[in-house]
Amino acid sequence: MAAETYLFPCLKDNFGVLIHDPGSGATASIDAPEAAPVEAALAKTGWRLTDILVTHHHADHTQGIGELKAHHKCRVVAPRNEAARIAHVDETVGEGDTVTVGALAARVIETPGHTSGHISYFFPADKLAFVGDTLFSIGCGRVIEGNAEMMWNSLLKLRALPDDAQFFCGHEYTAANIRFAKTVEPGNKALNARAAEVEKLTAAGKATIPATIGAEKAANPFLRADNAEIAKSLGLAGKPAWQVFAEIRERKNRF
Ligand SMILES: [Zn+2]
Repeated sequence: MAAETYLFPCLKDNFGVLIHDPGSGATASIDAPEAAPVEAALAKTGWRLTDILVTHHHADHTQGIGELKAHHKCRVVAPRNEAARIAHVDETVGEGDTVTVGALAARVIETPGHTSGHISYFFPADKLAFVGDTLFSIGCGRVIEGNAEMMWNSLLKLRALPDDAQFFCGHEYTAANIRFAKTVEPGNKALNARAAEVEKLTAAGKATIPATIGAEKAANPFLRADNAEIAKSLGLAGKPAWQVFAEIRERKNRF
């Protein structure tokens, strides 16, 4: 049976999201920004929390784990390379590992850069990716613990997912990301179409995600650092893509 998802806001601008296997009743929370909105989402859907799949150690992704685990006795799965910095972990995973939620199976993709051990979860049968703070719609996470080359390589792994794969990210930053992206590629038609779509969604009080990898490849400058036109417009013609990526990320940090 196809996976079901339920998306909801947490904290100031975090997303919470549940993935549910209707066959077994298993449900995972991707990260746990805070317990109360996750509990409210479970009450609303009638789903039972069996697992928490953690993408990275930051408090705004993990601080609800203790309370949720105490209440639901759920399993906590976390990235092997930073599990020591996350409380209440039951299982650690790394590149290529499979994590099951009932009959649903996710492949673990290591996507370091925002943090040194950040991972993403991809459910190939349902083409759903949960990418934490690595990829945002029309943006990407700040490079905090890694370096630009590492982050670019992580984004390339996510860019290689199927075009029709949908991804869920950790924050609602899309509108602000679009304002910046237009300074990098003002003439990008896909970006301008996404801007119009996001304006409508925001006006209607709706979330701007999930988005598809294919649409993102066309509009997100952080996935386009190997585009010759962009390199040229930034004065970096012929430079390696990761250097172009680094420049775009630097400009965003100052924007
Ligand atoms: Zn983070």
